[in-house]
Amino acid sequence: MTEKDVSTTTIGAKVWKDGEFIDWNDARVHIMSHVIHYGSSVFEGIRCYKNQNGSAVFRLREHMQRLINSAKIYRMDVDYSLDEFCDSVVNLIRECDLDECYIRPIIFRGLNEDKPAFGVNPFPNPLSTYIAVWKWGKYLGEEALENGIDVCVSSWERFNSNALPAMAKAGANYMNSQLIKMEAILGGYSEGIALDDRGYVSEGSGENLFLVNNGKLITPPLGASILPGITRDSVIQIAKELEIEVVETVVQRSALYLADELFFTGTAAEITPIRSVDKITVGSGKRGPITERLQEEFFKIVNAERPAPSNAPWLTYVSEVAEKKSA
Ligand code: PMP
Repeated sequence: MTEKDVSTTTIGAKVWKDGEFIDWNDARVHIMSHVIHYGSSVFEGIRCYKNQNGSAVFRLREHMQRLINSAKIYRMDVDYSLDEFCDSVVNLIRECDLDECYIRPIIFRGLNEDKPAFGVNPFPNPLSTYIAVWKWGKYLGEEALENGIDVCVSSWERFNSNALPAMAKAGANYMNSQLIKMEAILGGYSEGIALDDRGYVSEGSGENLFLVNNGKLITPPLGASILPGITRDSVIQIAKELEIEVVETVVQRSALYLADELFFTGTAAEITPIRSVDKITVGSGKRGPITERLQEEFFKIVNAERPAPSNAPWLTYVSEVAEKKSA
């Protein structure tokens, strides 16, 4: 990157802070906030897509429920109900007038400036809740969805769930993700796959992982120190509807090299094919037919070209196109 490079990211003009809209530039914290020193935050990552009917958030309720669950694990008493959280996201996107965006709700332990506390004990530190939005393109590159990416198995292990609960999407977990990601980038790969403390395959730094073998989908179980990914769940439901067998089971490292197809799932990564692991070509070295089929169905649902499996309400509309509104 040169000094002349400038960010082309479009950010939301407003940020939602505990029930109010504030300017993006005013969304600041004191450097002695508990979260800065001890990683005490829980957060979400959600996408709002523009489709033929308007702009819709993908699986908003499931994401906000996971935020509430993450907060519960960390004994954070949340002041908002699931409905209030969902309404706040929709209102913020409207306020910022974005037709497509990435949504980042976050709850963290701050600083009581009248009665500061600097120790590890989080209880004296007040909670703050923010939601920010910005436009985010393809996380692993524009080409990745079609051509696939090159990944490595990380020398860093995924943490054991009795050390840091993987069920919670907590800020501190992403120190582990950063080690995995940095090692991958410096090694010339797009992403790293972590093994768990038993040596079985866990997940990417910010993605769940699926293998395709003899027409079946195989994915590590929730017990393998993985985040219960909402895209993972979407893919499982779509696969079942297509009568593709899904097996949630432990996966050995070497099975990655021998898979017919391999792909990541995640809100940011969507469904990204993997074409090599540790420089060993996976399958044909390009996106496989089952990965492509699942991508197709996934994007049809996101684009409102077909309903979700069992007609589940996966899309929450922020705005609708004029003619649909009056119809
Ligand atoms: N694992 C990790 C560690 C992640 O950060 C993410 C992204 N949230 C995922 C898996 C995928 O989860 P989701 O599909 O809900 O975005």
